[in-house]
Amino acid sequence: MPTVTTIPVTRTTASRLPDFDPDHIVFGNNPTDHMFTARYSNGSWGEARVEPLHQLTLSPLALCLHYGQTVFEGLKAYRLENGDISIFRPYKHHSRFNKSLDRLCMPEVPEALFMDALHTLVSLDRDWIPARADSSLYLRPFVIATEPRVGVKVSDEYLFMVVALPMSSYYAGNLKVKVETEFVRAVEGGTGAAKCGGNYGAAFYPTQKAKEQGYDQILWTDGKHNEFLEESGTMNLMFLIDGVLITPPLAGSILDGVTRDSLMAIAREMGIVVTERPFSYHELEAALLAGKQVEAFGVGTAAVISPIELIGIGANQYKLPVTDDAVLFQLKRRLQDIRLGRVADPFGWNDIIPAGE
Ligand SMILES: *Cc1c(COP(=O)(O)O)cnc(C)c1O
Repeated sequence: MPTVTTIPVTRTTASRLPDFDPDHIVFGNNPTDHMFTARYSNGSWGEARVEPLHQLTLSPLALCLHYGQTVFEGLKAYRLENGDISIFRPYKHHSRFNKSLDRLCMPEVPEALFMDALHTLVSLDRDWIPARADSSLYLRPFVIATEPRVGVKVSDEYLFMVVALPMSSYYAGNLKVKVETEFVRAVEGGTGAAKCGGNYGAAFYPTQKAKEQGYDQILWTDGKHNEFLEESGTMNLMFLIDGVLITPPLAGSILDGVTRDSLMAIAREMGIVVTERPFSYHELEAALLAGKQVEAFGVGTAAVISPIELIGIGANQYKLPVTDDAVLFQLKRRLQDIRLGRVADPFGWNDIIPAGE
């Protein structure tokens, strides 16, 4: 149920919507007309508002620019076939947002504020959601530390924002990935389970090296043994081996992905055995060498499912046939059908904003 919003709205007088071409969406640098902001100071959130998108003013001393207190989320709103808008699993995204904020010593965002921010912005900018099954509105909530002070300390002031960007089907092709055994993304006890900016900055260098070797992405291994598979880029990992779904456990170094959670529920519903357990690249290589039927894929909000067609392990490369009848595509279709309101929503994942509200 949408909450009753109390956030003041200033509408743009110069909408960019007439220039927006839903058939040729360039994702990433084409935000909608408006943005949400709220400020934290003296121990509480206030000044919540939705305004025309504009530049920020920030002190060069702002703590986020120096010591990494930044946290974000990524979720999507869809236009359903009946005209309603649906935000996919915002409560689960909100609870992860707060876990990330906690880990970075940043103030939690109350659920009502998070939901109001999303509903107000999505309602106002709903015409930016193309009426196409392959399109959506990507929502990016984030918090940054704004206290102006050069000093290694926890900030006393923060800015919470939400921006929205239309997205068409995000299909980057099948992935070629390399098992990374030199660099690590995260270790247990570190920040791998938080969606904080620093994790991504630190991943660029090894990913760049893998790209120079002809790969698209890295399969990260754990920080202690460099053996157990963790994640790939900004996606969780899933394998189907002889019909059993295997995904690494939430042991502290990987993100609790909403897509991962949703696909596990759908797989179980389809009668597939789902196991969350440590899975080493040795075990993967043994399965490949034994000629077992292996599907491997990355899962996350942006691309939903990215099939992996080639895995580099040391000096060896293994090709994985990606066929139309793969189980991963069945999982994806079921998830998309639920997200788009084409079938009943048995898990209560869709947060509906009725047409006209
Ligand atoms: C965002 C993200 C994911 C995917 O999470 P979803 O909730 O499914 O979008 C997985 N791993 C990392 C590192 C991420 O940043």
